Amino acid sequence: MEKYTHILVAVDFAAGNATVGARAVELQRLYGARLSFVHVIEHIPMEAGSELLMGADFDLEQQLADGASARLADYAKQLGVADAGQYVELGSTKNEITRLALELQADLIVVGSHGRHGLALLLGSTANAVLHAAPCDLLAIRVKD
Ligand code: AMP
Repeated sequence: MEKYTHILVAVDFAAGNATVGARAVELQRLYGARLSFVHVIEHIPMEAGSELLMGADFDLEQQLADGASARLADYAKQLGVADAGQYVELGSTKNEITRLALELQADLIVVGSHGRHGLALLLGSTANAVLHAAPCDLLAIRVKD
């Protein structure tokens, strides 16, 4: 079996992410692979005039990106892999994860997966969406809600 060489972990900072990250680190050590983390900030629809409330020079997306970068760094540190690649992207979660996987030539994407029922199942999940667009293998780690 071929070894994985670059593992990309999608992180949403929800409960269960520690489990997902710990599994990815196990695999990274097993294969001697590179490891990268990505968090995606979905576009924020802003109503016209909202800059009046926040001030014209307030860049909400930049604030969120800075916060996410700090959280990713903390997450990697807690997993004992502070030197792993860390990416904060802006856009559609599915598109950005798969785009970055291609760009980094990742050969395994790791995501969390919730057991879903009812409406949530009908709406689908990020793991499901990424699976259908992934340019490489995808590992969905079941996380408890
Ligand atoms: P969900 O189906 O939205 O509950 O998300 C399941 C998994 O998709 C999470 O455990 C993450 O691995 C990934 N994910 C969801 N949202 C994001 C996000 N904004 N950025 C990166 N990964 C995400």
